[in-house]
Amino acid sequence: MSTKKGTILVVEDEVKIARVLELELEYEGYSVTKVMDGLEALEKYRTGSWDLILLDVMLPGLSGIELLRRIRKNDLLTPVILLTAKSSVEDKVSGLDLGANDYITKPFQIEELLARIRAALRIKQVEQPQDEDPNLLRFADLSIDQKTREVLRAGEPIELTPREFDLLVYLMDHKRQVLSRDQILEAVWGYDFFGDTNVVDVYIRYIRKKIDLPHLPSLIHTVRGIGYVMKDAK
Ligand code: CA
Repeated sequence: MSTKKGTILVVEDEVKIARVLELELEYEGYSVTKVMDGLEALEKYRTGSWDLILLDVMLPGLSGIELLRRIRKNDLLTPVILLTAKSSVEDKVSGLDLGANDYITKPFQIEELLARIRAALRIKQVEQPQDEDPNLLRFADLSIDQKTREVLRAGEPIELTPREFDLLVYLMDHKRQVLSRDQILEAVWGYDFFGDTNVVDVYIRYIRKKIDLPHLPSLIHTVRGIGYVMKDAK
């Protein structure tokens, strides 16, 4: 759903600054999600897919530095720009050490911030040419390479049987769309499959066990009376 220029997660607890950032970035054509608390930001980070993260350092819940540390454990690619207080040299240094792509000190000129965002997104495109690879499907922290048949969740490889693989590809290809059991059966097993739709439930259970690990937000949701949808939490 990168309909616009890109999706930006704005993590900033100062209401006025967050609001200005949201307005300016949306005006520039980015789609923006604002979060004011570090823990909530971690949750949003894990369940969404972001082209860039704008991260304040002083936050309730979890500091921006700690949040950055957790993001960089598995994810070296998503650009992170830190928003730091002018006085805090340590924050800038530890932020850059931890893999922030850039930082900007408050108060900032919006034009400068926009330029840095554009630069960070350009670098990301250069470093991530596989994003244009049609064989690569991504959703939240899940990725599937249809050529190598490699499946990763939060950086961890996942083994799927061929049928489970086809089912997951179909769900990822139709992410955020509610799919009926019949639709899934037809697409994954084919018209000539005379089983009943229970087989869909069984295989959904198999891949859930492998993909939706207990410590990670679930990506495959049941839609009662209809079927299933792949979406992030909420
Ligand atoms: Ca703050």
